Amino acid sequence: MVHLLAVAVALLSSFKSFSVNAQIAAKKPLVITTTTDLAWAAREILGDAVEVRSLLNGREDPHFVDVRPDYVAQVAQADVVCAVGLDLEVGWLPKVISKAARREIQPGGRGYCDFGSRIQALDKPLQQVDRSQGDVHPQGNPHYWLSPSVLAQASREVIDATERVRPELKGKFEARYSEFKRMMLGLEARLKARLVSANITGEQARFAEYHREFSYFARSFELTSHDTLEEKPGLSPSAGRLGKVATGLRRDKITIVLAARTAPTRVIQKFEEISGLKVGVVSVSVSQAPGSDVETYPQLIEKIIDTLIAVSEKNAAKLR
Ligand SMILES: [Zn+2]
Repeated sequence: MVHLLAVAVALLSSFKSFSVNAQIAAKKPLVITTTTDLAWAAREILGDAVEVRSLLNGREDPHFVDVRPDYVAQVAQADVVCAVGLDLEVGWLPKVISKAARREIQPGGRGYCDFGSRIQALDKPLQQVDRSQGDVHPQGNPHYWLSPSVLAQASREVIDATERVRPELKGKFEARYSEFKRMMLGLEARLKARLVSANITGEQARFAEYHREFSYFARSFELTSHDTLEEKPGLSPSAGRLGKVATGLRRDKITIVLAARTAPTRVIQKFEEISGLKVGVVSVSVSQAPGSDVETYPQLIEKIIDTLIAVSEKNAAKLR
């Protein structure tokens, strides 16, 4: 009887450990990204084999985010944690990751995935920077996700990180990644052609921006940044600064002014009053929040191009 019982217990426990192992093997790896744009790219590339979630919802300013307990809880469960990098999330992500207290997802760990490490950064400061110059990005401009081709290049990182934590998935994502790159280059070419047919080329393709965040976007779409409304990044510009920029734009007949939805509305309105120019306020991240018209990345970029063309036409009429 005792013997039978022992056999039963052994059988039961071996069955249990078998089912636990099977569960682990079957459980999809969880990839947590900081921003919605990285999540969108990761989903496109990794498909159903992986669960992807974003900490932010696309409506926040990713430079300035609070360290929320639910971010820590999500990151603590992640197999892979992906950041835009280039210090965009420097004010909050390191705290979230360190509170999550897991070795694999710390920077340098197998599950840490830095999209920004894959690209050639623009706007690198030539001299040493300090906080008196505002919220400058010492590693270079982190706003690369607004360029379809650069985002495609950066996204390679999520494949490598996923394969590091799940070697059995090695090679599984190559076809999807090729398709992804093709789609992104196609999007870029199609929207570039729209700018050309709207006559936004050469002198007409100069623009001003609230924060220096359209550098990669500009490179992809052959636009030239003429000025920024901010004098120091991350700090609200003074009325004097706005006046100076407005005078310059009117003199040089710059018809395109862009700002992210997270830029301070009061300042944008003030600038519109002073300059008599319309500012194109756009979403700079994908959002699935209710009422969003930029649920996918192609929608996001197309919307920026639409707004840019509309604003340019309106302001050109005013400057004529
Ligand atoms: Zn920035």
